[in-house]
Amino acid sequence: MTEIHPDQIELFLAEARRKMGRFAARTVRYRFLISLGYHPLTWIRRRSIRPHPEAVASPDVRTGGPRCGGCVHLAPLDLDGSGARRLKCWLNGGERVTRGDATTIRAWWPACTSYEAR
Ligand code: SF4
Repeated sequence: MTEIHPDQIELFLAEARRKMGRFAARTVRYRFLISLGYHPLTWIRRRSIRPHPEAVASPDVRTGGPRCGGCVHLAPLDLDGSGARRLKCWLNGGERVTRGDATTIRAWWPACTSYEAR
């Protein structure tokens, strides 16, 4: 795993946000983090969430390996009562969940060590 300072990520994200929309900028950041061997939630929650040992550090689902989309902890939740459901990691009753989009999981993310197959 390559060591990078969180400020580098924030600078990268700020630049990406300037050039594209928020959703697309986040996608770029997630792809960047995954390519470095990080699980994206590590940076969102500011604590280490390690990739599953069999996970492939690639955003390309064709490369195989366990992904968040196949995990029992992934749940579509309506947190603001709007009826819009977003995918969240409901591990340990929601300790990784916030109402914001930053903790919305992408099903294509490589799994973390807490992965349990459906
Ligand atoms: S516990 Fe499951 S859904 Fe949550 S981050 Fe890990 S692999 Fe993804």
